[in-house]
Amino acid sequence: MTGDMIAENAGWLVVVGLGPGPDRWITPAVSAVLDAATDIIGYGPYTARLPVQPGRTVHASDNRVEIERARHALELAGAGRRVAVVSGGDPGVFAMAAAVFEAIEHGPAAWRALDIRVEPGVTAMLAAAARVGAPLGHDFAAISLSDNLKPWDIILKRLRLAAEADLVIALYNPVSRARPDKLREAFAVLGAIRAGDTPVIMARAVGRPDERIALTTLGEAAEVEADMATVVIIGSSETRLIAREGVPFVYTPRSYGAGR
Ligand code: SAH
Repeated sequence: MTGDMIAENAGWLVVVGLGPGPDRWITPAVSAVLDAATDIIGYGPYTARLPVQPGRTVHASDNRVEIERARHALELAGAGRRVAVVSGGDPGVFAMAAAVFEAIEHGPAAWRALDIRVEPGVTAMLAAAARVGAPLGHDFAAISLSDNLKPWDIILKRLRLAAEADLVIALYNPVSRARPDKLREAFAVLGAIRAGDTPVIMARAVGRPDERIALTTLGEAAEVEADMATVVIIGSSETRLIAREGVPFVYTPRSYGAGR
């Protein structure tokens, strides 16, 4: 790309992550992009978190139209607007950044010449892990239980193989109206491979006023209520608790066998 091409079109598009909730978890780099943007595009609850700013247009949309939202953002950037596409958490984790690149791959060639960037944010599993200690201290996998975009069979296979590989597992999108029992089914698949006393963290609305964190075990996890604002972390065979007054610390040692 030449400097001339950028100069011809002052528009840009930055996909930003707003973190799990509180403003103090928004990075200064993301704040700078939001301040400079003429247009903010995102799912309604995320755009609602941003202060109203004169001269800035907010395009709030429904959750299911990611690709159209991405195309709209690219059209605006192509027309010279400064566009921030917002996601909760990190924009690259089950969120808008991949939708933007999918739109670019299948869209007009001119979109590839646009000034496009991604600014990271704190993803939900990291915020949840930090609340209890260091459960992600060794290898882990992040799996979305949402079957809107992939078949349920694939999800079950990934759960099984991640459990067999003894990875700590973070589950995003654990609940949906269309499949109310999927989290229970996921726990059953994992419980067939991993011990019933494996620590499980159910972290809801981390960083928000209605935050609720439950520490339980794989054997009992199905009894704990989860909703769409919950991320679930299931320990590996190495994940341990440190008892103390109040809620124990949970951590996964950095080397195998260290906790024994
Ligand atoms: N891009 C987001 C994830 C989007 S998928 C990120 O990086 O965090 C939406 C899922 O993220 C939710 O179903 C839930 O599993 C998780 N999530 C998002 N915000 C959360 C929060 N504050 N507390 C717990 N889980 C959260």
